[in-house]
Amino acid sequence: MAASMSNFNLKDKVALITGSSHGIGAATAVLFADLGAHLVLTGRNESNLSKVGNECEKHGAKVLLITGDVTKEEDNETIVDKTIKHYGRIDILITSAGIYMMRTPIHKTSMEEYDKMMNVNVRAIFHITSLVIPHLIKTKGCIVNVSSVAGLRAFGNAAIYGMSKAALDSFTRSAALELAPHGVRVNSVNPGATDTGIHMRVGMDEASYQKHLDNCSSSHPLGRAAQPEEVANAIAYLASDAASFITGTNLPVDGGRQAACPRSHLKSGDHQISSPLKST
Ligand code: NDP
Repeated sequence: MAASMSNFNLKDKVALITGSSHGIGAATAVLFADLGAHLVLTGRNESNLSKVGNECEKHGAKVLLITGDVTKEEDNETIVDKTIKHYGRIDILITSAGIYMMRTPIHKTSMEEYDKMMNVNVRAIFHITSLVIPHLIKTKGCIVNVSSVAGLRAFGNAAIYGMSKAALDSFTRSAALELAPHGVRVNSVNPGATDTGIHMRVGMDEASYQKHLDNCSSSHPLGRAAQPEEVANAIAYLASDAASFITGTNLPVDGGRQAACPRSHLKSGDHQISSPLKST
């Protein structure tokens, strides 16, 4: 394959994007529309899904909206069945449906919270992947999972979230090996803090969320949180032919956070690094 800018487009690829009603998944949907993909957008919130769908149509994409809860096996079956009935194929699976939880010590975490996190962030992705694989084998397609820097590095008071993302990273590598003989690539992006408001959806108030974003000036070497579009750029790259020889990778999109060592302990369990952008 010749090196060419044309490898970066997604023209006429059918992309199924979970969690595309908000945040990173929504930004990915709009970028994919720009790059020429036909889209299947899913999430539980119908009104958010419609707004994202309208935006994608303005960018010229064909869009199929399917509401569903990825923790329900019957919903995942419906999503895949309707996609195949509508488009006849799937070229790309992006798994951006995911949840966070307020930071909690292990001994104060309930098993209900454990099950909820693992169900959405791991079990649901395993299930929808298993349903999509036969279609990706036919198209020699690809998967990009949306993981986290928390899959690569440990953070205090966030054990289950980190475990869920480390499990997803392992799944990404296993699936990559299993599917490589079929010409199907599987990768993940591992974002650092990204300004989508995900924390406020699990009860963080606005002032604390703003503080969380402000703290990124010291916790992320590039001195800030990401915008969802910056993560979408990396997802689009991995999904495109420009990444034709990349599989089994967990790609940090984290302003350098995973590369850093903590240099001061501001408070127990909250390892911060010093930022050259901030220090004078
Ligand atoms: P958002 O909360 O903005 O979006 C999450 C998306 O997931 C929504 O579209 C939501 O849709 C969907 N979703 C959640 N639960 C379910 C469910 N049970 N069934 C179907 N859809 C569901 O989060 P982000 O965009 O920030 O997060 C996306 C991914 O990125 C997550 O896996 C997160 O862990 C990861 N990530 C995020 C970071 C950040 O700082 N924001 C940092 C690192 C990783 P709906 O509500 O309509 O169901």
